[in-house]
Amino acid sequence: MNAPTPPNPTQAALPDAGQALWQACVDQLAQELPEQQFNTWIRPLNASLSEDFSRIHIEVANRFKLDWIRAQYAGRLSALLQQLYGQPIQIDFLLAAKEIPQRVSPARTLAVPEEFAAASGPSSETGLNAFKNRINTSLCFDNLVEGTANRMARAAAMHVANVPGQLYNPLFIYGGVGLGKTHLMHAVGNQLLVNRPDATVLYIHAEQFVSDVVKAYQRKTFDEFKQYYHSLDLLLIDDVQFFANKDRTQEEFFNAFEALLTKKSHIVMTSDTYPKGLTDIHERLVSRFDSGLTVAIEPPELEMRVAILIAKARSEGADMPEEVAFFVAKNVRSNVRELEGALRKILAYSRFNQKEVSIQLARDALRDLLSIQNRQISVENIQKTVADYYKIKIADMYSKKRPASIARPRQIAMYLAKELTQKSLPEIGELFGGRDHTTVLHAVRKISAERQTLNELNQQLHVLEQTLKG
Ligand code: ADP
Ligand code: MG
Repeated sequence: MNAPTPPNPTQAALPDAGQALWQACVDQLAQELPEQQFNTWIRPLNASLSEDFSRIHIEVANRFKLDWIRAQYAGRLSALLQQLYGQPIQIDFLLAAKEIPQRVSPARTLAVPEEFAAASGPSSETGLNAFKNRINTSLCFDNLVEGTANRMARAAAMHVANVPGQLYNPLFIYGGVGLGKTHLMHAVGNQLLVNRPDATVLYIHAEQFVSDVVKAYQRKTFDEFKQYYHSLDLLLIDDVQFFANKDRTQEEFFNAFEALLTKKSHIVMTSDTYPKGLTDIHERLVSRFDSGLTVAIEPPELEMRVAILIAKARSEGADMPEEVAFFVAKNVRSNVRELEGALRKILAYSRFNQKEVSIQLARDALRDLLSIQNRQISVENIQKTVADYYKIKIADMYSKKRPASIARPRQIAMYLAKELTQKSLPEIGELFGGRDHTTVLHAVRKISAERQTLNELNQQLHVLEQTLKG
């Protein structure tokens, strides 16, 4: 780093003074934080201050880090900056990476294209072309957990990566936000580059494609633009719903599409909806989208959410006990991005408080998130949670089956229903397939007695209670 230059009233000095202020802030954090934390989160940051020092732009390599840094360090950064400068400085975090924030204006994505490539890790460039492939090397098949929700899409993507240009061309993957579509695309790119390091591959977000078209238009560089796109072996184009109403872009994409398919290059696309559900995209393009294989990614089911949490914690070098993963997975249901957010909060909370990851800790760390959910405990909810926990079918809660592997979880559910709801014994019996109230009473007495002596049972009940109470 440059030594801070003495303050100097000319305009040219301003950026240096800004850098010096930032550097002082960074130096201070270097002293406060454990070295590894500092190196991971703070050292890589680039910052620039506005001329009047009222704002600071901090660029972060990707959304993952951005969320983390905002959650963990924004407060301290802000306090330090204020302390060093004497007045509050507003912090703006910006993405500087290959991940384009959703639905931002093209102007903003235009401003940072070089950063995209710069942040994409070890490059697999051939060096021949001036374009970067924009593949994020950290998103690969190895760290994409498989489950029922993404099995088809994952298998198809894997096939494309290993045998491109043949089956499933184009591959169209659709699903809601945060379900792993972008991850899957990068995985295809990375895998193909492992197999064929000299392949020309491009990952591009549809919005970036739109702005590239605009740029080529303005700069009259259409020939190069075309030549480049038409020369690819693999084109990964993300969130094609952004092509809506962009006629010129759609036309260029159509041309690229045709050229690539003719030379048996592969195209993988993602979208938030299936092709026919796309609006304001030309019919001829929509029918092309649907002409290969169209697969959905669904929201992950409980088991997959548990597996993802455990895998992610491990990759962060942390240990997440299965019961904690169960607690979190049960309470955070929408998508993988939210799961990651919850995990980050928990791990941060654990590190900062120097406490082991437990259900209680998870509950504290996620307090805000959990409190907005409706915490009415119903018998149905208890039945479902207990069935999930003991891996039996929910129907077994009402069935007459008697094997211990089923009868016992059922008794546990009855016990919890009595403990955690206001329902009477006959009402509970009714909700368990029309059983007599004496059956419920028997279950309640049995489980509460056993709980006193059987440590393992007590522990399991504890997990279930915490999970249900959220
Ligand atoms: P989408 O593009 O569908 O909105 P992303 O690919 O950006 O979703 O995924 C959101 C986050 O969740 C990413 O950090 C991604 O790595 C992670 N993720 C999604 N699905 C999985 C999975 N099956 N296993 C591991 N991580 C996943
Ligand atoms: Mg995406």
